[in-house]
Amino acid sequence: MSSTVGQVIKCKAAVAWESGKPLVIEEVEVAPPQKMEVRLKILFTSLCHTDVFFWEAKAQDSVFPRIFGHEAAGIVESVGEGVTELAPGDHVLPVFTGECKECAHCKSEESNMCSLLRINTDRGVMLNDGQTRFSINGKPIYHFVGTSTFSEYTVVHVGCLAKINPLAPLDKVCILSCGITTGLGATLNVAKPTKGSSVAIFGLGAVGLGAAEGARLAGASRIIGVDFNSSRFEGAKKFGVTEFVNPKDYKKPVQEVIVEMTDGGVDRSVECTGNTNAMISAFECVHDGWGVAVLVGVPHKDAEFKTHPMNFLNERTLKGTFFGNYKPRSDLPSVVEMYMKKELELEKFITHEVPFSEINKAFELMLKGEGLRCIIRMEG
Ligand code: NAD
Ligand code: ZN
Repeated sequence: MSSTVGQVIKCKAAVAWESGKPLVIEEVEVAPPQKMEVRLKILFTSLCHTDVFFWEAKAQDSVFPRIFGHEAAGIVESVGEGVTELAPGDHVLPVFTGECKECAHCKSEESNMCSLLRINTDRGVMLNDGQTRFSINGKPIYHFVGTSTFSEYTVVHVGCLAKINPLAPLDKVCILSCGITTGLGATLNVAKPTKGSSVAIFGLGAVGLGAAEGARLAGASRIIGVDFNSSRFEGAKKFGVTEFVNPKDYKKPVQEVIVEMTDGGVDRSVECTGNTNAMISAFECVHDGWGVAVLVGVPHKDAEFKTHPMNFLNERTLKGTFFGNYKPRSDLPSVVEMYMKKELELEKFITHEVPFSEINKAFELMLKGEGLRCIIRMEG
């Protein structure tokens, strides 16, 4: 690998030229990493709903042409000035939100919202010089959430990379780089259900099933899955979901259905849809006196959350979280270890696999609501 150090690398990347149009595999130039940056070779990446959301770019301003992708695993090719924690050959997971280790958030035990490297979906450039590291014949191609993993090589700020156990299989642990960890942490770190409690999960995609996996690990006795798509229900049983509710089967609001099922409400709920109605239902279905609801789904730009203030006065708590409150560099390696110790099962999340040349198939599957995670293999 050392022959490429300090040089521009030409490689394949899936470029989104405009919103909602299939990605095009192009030859791109990837510049060497600058100060506090790392260039890595991506081996496996997968598609998360957040990529599709910003690719569709329905309600928000967006940056094109762009290289999407943020759930991935790779190997360090070279490091820029000032990078001491990583070296060529290290196995890493890139993360859409970073950890500079110096700001007030990084120093706080409670927060993972790093001031320097927190998620920024509007920025398409690197922080060091405000430029892109990707180009085609000198024309800049923009980054996405600092990761842009739909490329054989990418450049990422060192603060957005978790160094992981080199024995961990990258084709499995790549899905820990975003969705599964987000859902898992939303339950374990934020909702914190106690043993024997009841938990409602809204949205049974990979993020919601990651949240269900967290509820299972915490020892919840009732895990109620809520989804419009009933085809999700059978598969969700493997994740410990004990009961299912499809809001379309009822005339009354789903929160009322859940309150009746649970004699006053669930102890905890985790919303993993991005839909504001689901967010409101997730809040209003928790028990008064102690119930806690956690929002995870990314809403549209103009979305508003509306509920009666009495719902708060009656001692319900509403929280939200990015990346399950995990600090990417400090905490993600230990989530990988949970998989290595077989506490956490990842295989059941992986329902499809495609070669990089067929990346658009992964988009089609997600748009149809089929499967959970589709692994995109960069080589062969
Ligand atoms: P997904 O599309 O695979 O799953 C979402 C599920 O929600 C689908 O099964 C859909 O049928 C269901 N759904 C939609 N609206 C619903 C409603 N009103 N009631 C019940 N079910 C409904 O998506 P995913 O990859 O699992 O991601 C889920 C959400 O989490 C997305 O909004 C994504 O952007 C967000 N996300 C947030 C973070 C974070 O850090 N906060 C990280 C990753 C993903
Ligand atoms: Zn920070």
